[in-house]
Amino acid sequence: MNKRSPHHAYLVRVHKIIDLSPNLRRLVLHSAELAEYPHQFNGAHIKIFLAPPGQTTPQLPQFSGHGFNWAEPDNKPIVRTYTIRDYDAKACTISIDFVKHGDSGPASAFAEQAQLGDVLGISSPGGPNPMLKTAARYLFAGDITALPAIESLLAGIQPYASGDVVLLLPQAEDLPATLSLPAGIRLHTFYGDLSQIPALVKLVSTFTPLACDDFAWVAGEAALVKPLRELLRTQWQLPSQRHYAVPYWRQGENEESYHEARHKFIEK
Ligand SMILES: Cc1cc2nc3c(=O)[nH]c(=O)nc-3n(C[C@H](O)[C@H](O)[C@H](O)COP(=O)(O)OP(=O)(O)OC[C@H]3O[C@@H](n4cnc5c(N)ncnc54)[C@H](O)[C@@H]3O)c2cc1C
Repeated sequence: MNKRSPHHAYLVRVHKIIDLSPNLRRLVLHSAELAEYPHQFNGAHIKIFLAPPGQTTPQLPQFSGHGFNWAEPDNKPIVRTYTIRDYDAKACTISIDFVKHGDSGPASAFAEQAQLGDVLGISSPGGPNPMLKTAARYLFAGDITALPAIESLLAGIQPYASGDVVLLLPQAEDLPATLSLPAGIRLHTFYGDLSQIPALVKLVSTFTPLACDDFAWVAGEAALVKPLRELLRTQWQLPSQRHYAVPYWRQGENEESYHEARHKFIEK
């Protein structure tokens, strides 16, 4: 199939709204153009483009080697980062699972107020490919923003895989009933707010350290990712090619204000 250049943006419409749990809402997004979407794997990063207040259709960027170019720089959309939870080439849809954290964030507000037919933009996928390397043993750790990626990545894991999945979710009802784990993977859950992070980190620090042929995948609020990355790198001496540890958001900061600090953290 003649797929588009990987650097492209698409206007899509809300096609289905599915409340997965008290705090997670899936928007199934449709456009005929998605038949040629350069899908890599579920769990990949994506940018979404939301119309500024008072408008219904966001401007889409052109891509340069250095990021986005805007035909109307004074009328940029709101840009946020999300995860491809599912892609269906036949149905021309992409699903994104949004955490409903209130209307202080434009993306959360968009998801909470979404109506069928609402328009937004999405980019082609980015981020590391593959995001998960084949390993003897895995550690997945994250909060509810990382759940869409963790579920996606677990779906593709070898049935004989072993390891641990450690989740911090707002409520027990946010644990997907459909989460299916290979027999060798243990699930550990913490419910509540970010005050649970020290207990979660303490639990992970009791695990047998991962070795060079293992892989750790960690994402979520910055205060969860930082100590876990420290544990992986310093105490467990896990090489950087054997882990992904990315802060997906930071409490009290929006995506624009946290952008630079996140990149500095990742590049360290
Ligand atoms: C690679 C990557 C993949 C991601 N995938 C997903 C995904 O699939 N689903 C998803 O829901 N999120 C995902 N996120 C996180 C998401 O990008 C952020 O939560 C983002 O800040 C949400 O934008 P917003 O407009 O709702 O809030 P913003 O305008 O960015 O923030 C407004 C306020 O809300 C707070 N806030 C932001 N996110 C949360 C939250 N989750 N809980 C409580 N308070 C919050 C901020 O600290 C700030 O005070 C991902 C992030 C990255 C980097």
